[in-house]
Amino acid sequence: MSVDVGQPAPPVHNGTPLVKLVDVKKYFPISRGLVFQKRIGQVHAVDGVSLEVYPGETVGLVGETGCGKSTTARLIMKLFDVTEGQVYFDGQDITNLSRRAMRPIRREMQMVFQDPYASLNPRKPVGSIIADPLRIHKTVPADRIKGEVQDLMKRVGLNPEHYNRYPHEFSGGQRQRIGVARALALRPRLIVADEPVSALDVSVQAQVLNLLEDLQQEFNLTYVFIAHDLAVVKHMSDRVAVMYLGKIGEVATGDVLYQNPKHPYTGALLSAVPIPDPRLASERKRIVLEGDVPSPIDPPSGCRFHPRCPNAQFPRCSEEEPLLTPHRPGQVAACHFPLEDRAIVTVEAEEAAAEAKKATVKRARTTTPRTTRKTR
Ligand code: SF4
Repeated sequence: MSVDVGQPAPPVHNGTPLVKLVDVKKYFPISRGLVFQKRIGQVHAVDGVSLEVYPGETVGLVGETGCGKSTTARLIMKLFDVTEGQVYFDGQDITNLSRRAMRPIRREMQMVFQDPYASLNPRKPVGSIIADPLRIHKTVPADRIKGEVQDLMKRVGLNPEHYNRYPHEFSGGQRQRIGVARALALRPRLIVADEPVSALDVSVQAQVLNLLEDLQQEFNLTYVFIAHDLAVVKHMSDRVAVMYLGKIGEVATGDVLYQNPKHPYTGALLSAVPIPDPRLASERKRIVLEGDVPSPIDPPSGCRFHPRCPNAQFPRCSEEEPLLTPHRPGQVAACHFPLEDRAIVTVEAEEAAAEAKKATVKRARTTTPRTTRKTR
């Protein structure tokens, strides 16, 4: 049985999804000419993405630079208008809502950005930065804002006495905590985190990931977590969606995806994840992708991955677009010739990688107690 490309992946949860994208497309026009601008093409940044995110869930979006994951994040947040398709938040169609109508919904969805320094106003003290959403939405009386901000700072592991310090006086990890505190200020239900740890050192990454996990429990948050590091995405996510050139190639729960990827692109990404044990690493099969990602201005026909796919068979792969097809419960992949089970990662290699990840997180937890002490 196959599922239309435009249909959502089979849910692993019941109930109403908090976020639902239905065949969403975003094309950016390319124009030429200074005075009389003429449209000469368009970038197919997101091209028919359907996805559901359920309350309390973390969905990871993963893929190479330019695959459309950050654009998808901004479409969920309604920072971009869609070219086609529908965006739902908690069952409500928000695709064409005006800015005024979006205002109460904005409180419920917040974003954490990749570069914590660029996303903070360098001329404002952090207390004022974190207080901005409270002032704009007037959710807390003016005389209680300072106390609320200091409470938020404490919860994310910042010293509340640093209320009047400026962003440049904090380290990278601390600046990302400021971004998280600002996102939490309005007590949102959804946080879209766009590469929140990519700019941080590995040890600080683990601390910020632990913080996000703790806050998810404490505030019952739903996350859309974007990263290009598959190990980080697996650690954080209940389900992972793999994107390639504006489309979703595969969706599955973390364990299923890592043990039995079906899409050759997922397999290639997984085969590049480092395994600390050299013996197990040497047993793993590598898929090396040839060439660059094709231009999203003129994407390849049929399967978009066919110019780089080691499993491609012609002419079917270059002529017929593959549909998202179920494989295991909760796993769908868009491929005419999917990978065999355990095609990339052996059980032993998988266990070794999981152990190594656990050890890293444990080390970070023991060296830096969570959310309450001085942070790096
Ligand atoms: Fe590769 Fe063909 Fe599958 Fe596309 S449909 S991923 S080209 S095997």
